[in-house]
Amino acid sequence: SSRRSTGLNKAENSEGPDAKNLRVKLVLLGDSGVGKSCIVLRFVHGQFDPTSKVTVGASFLSQTIALQDSTTVKFEIWDTAGQERYAALAPLYYRGAGVAVIVYDITSPESFTKAQYWVKELQKHGSAGIVMALVGNKADLQEKREVSVQDGIDYAEENGMFFIETSAKTADNINQLFEEIAKRLPRPSSSS
Ligand code: GDP
Repeated sequence: SSRRSTGLNKAENSEGPDAKNLRVKLVLLGDSGVGKSCIVLRFVHGQFDPTSKVTVGASFLSQTIALQDSTTVKFEIWDTAGQERYAALAPLYYRGAGVAVIVYDITSPESFTKAQYWVKELQKHGSAGIVMALVGNKADLQEKREVSVQDGIDYAEENGMFFIETSAKTADNINQLFEEIAKRLPRPSSSS
């Protein structure tokens, strides 16, 4: 199998998702260099190690988190390995995704513009009901900031998205990002 699974998989339900054990494909989109791989590595491995990037691109990583209501959410995280740069390949990548995390770098206005492109693309061609998060990464680089917090908040609000600023370097808000996404996932109806 080419699948590579790490992290906590004890809660996985082999019959597929049910009301208490959700499973969702998550894609990250954004300019090259904004920190997508580092966000994933921080979340899944608890590390900031840009040199291990190569291993992420190979396939996907998964990580399961538990919410307070004892629901578990298994994220199947697809790394683009840069494929999103080829416009024709992007739809293959985000097809079937229940979550799109659109990342920019707060020191790069160009990456914020690119994030807006991805939002529109997903609004047009993404799965119905896709949960979208807008992430301003590299929040540790305050002295180099070129995109204001308010610009991120405003754009996300206009587009009905969840917004957060993160730092994969310091781990700031990384777990919160995935927890907030998990809370926003549509729940299958439960008989209990
Ligand atoms: P990707 O191309 O979007 O996957 O970006 P990477 O995850 O490879 O990161 C690109 C570069 O940004 C690397 O040199 C990282 O060390 C750096 N980087 C990623 N996240 C952060 C962050 O939160 N803060 C800082 N200061 N640098 C970061």
